[in-house]
Amino acid sequence: MGVSIPFLTEPEVDYGAVAEMAPGLRRVVANNPGKFTYRGTGTYIIGEGRVAIVDPGPDDDNHIAAVLAAVDGQQVEALLITHTHRDHSPASQAVAEATGAVAYGFGPHPAGDADDAKSEERGDLQFAPDLAVVHGDVVEGPGWSLECLYTPGHISNHMAYRWREAAGVFTGDHIMGWSTTIIPPPDGNMTDYLASLRLLADYPDDRVYWPTHGPPVTEPHALVKALYAHRLDRERQILECLTLGPQNIAEMVEVMYADVASELHEPAARSVLAHLIAMVGDGRVGTDGEAAAEAVYFQE
Ligand SMILES: [Zn+2]
Repeated sequence: MGVSIPFLTEPEVDYGAVAEMAPGLRRVVANNPGKFTYRGTGTYIIGEGRVAIVDPGPDDDNHIAAVLAAVDGQQVEALLITHTHRDHSPASQAVAEATGAVAYGFGPHPAGDADDAKSEERGDLQFAPDLAVVHGDVVEGPGWSLECLYTPGHISNHMAYRWREAAGVFTGDHIMGWSTTIIPPPDGNMTDYLASLRLLADYPDDRVYWPTHGPPVTEPHALVKALYAHRLDRERQILECLTLGPQNIAEMVEVMYADVASELHEPAARSVLAHLIAMVGDGRVGTDGEAAAEAVYFQE
C-alpha cells in the first residue's frame, strides 16, 4: 500500500576526498554518517579559481581541513547555507575565517525550533549570515549565478540554491534522493513543505538536484512528483482512519505504519502530527483545542 518513491543509494563515499560531480562542481563528504545524514554531509564547491561553497558542513576539524585543502590557491567568494542544522552550517565560521568568504543564508536558527533530544536534528545556534538572502536573490561569480529558492518545510529558514548555468539545484535537505524529509513541528511545517515541493515545478528545465546528503538526483521532477504523491497519500490515509470515528495519533500510526518496525512509530507519529496540523489548519480535520501530539481528531 502507498506510493512508491524511486529512492537512490550511494554505496560508498571517500571521506575527505574531492570528487568531481559535474563540470565545475566538486564535492567533499564529511565523515558524519547517520540516520539523518546518510553517508554524511556533502559540501559542494562550485566554479574554478573564484568559487562558491554550499553547506560547509559540521564543526569537524578533518572536514574543515579537507574543504580548505580543496580550495587551496582559489578565492572563496561565497558560502551558501541551506539551513541551520548542525550538519550543514557550523563549519562556515572556520571556512570564512580562513578564506574571507561572505556567508549567505536566510537567517539564524529559528527561535520556534525545539532544540531538545526530541528534535530530529540539532540546531546551530551560532550561525548568522553576513548577508541575509530572500527568495529570488542571486549570488554571482565567474561561471556561476546562484538563485535563492526559499523552501521552508523541513525548517523555516531553508534555502535551496539554483545554479542557473548548470540547470541544477542544491536542494539541501528539502529534496534528498535517499530518503523522505523530516518535517518536525512546530517549526517544521507540512503546508510550507508541500508548497516548497510545488515551487520546484516552476523550473521544469532543471536536470539535476544535488542534495546535501546522498547522490545527485538525475530525474528530479519524477522524484518530486513521487514525494508529493506520498504525502497526499498519507493525508488520504489519515482521513480514512477518521471515517472509523475519532482517533488519536497513536491509533492512526498503528494502522498507517502497520508494516513498519515499531521503533519507527515515534518519528512516524511526529510526521502524522505535521500532517494533522496542516489538515486542522485548513479545516479538513477537527480536534478540540490545538492540533497536538495527544489530541483526539475527528472528521469535519
Ligand atoms: Zn536538516
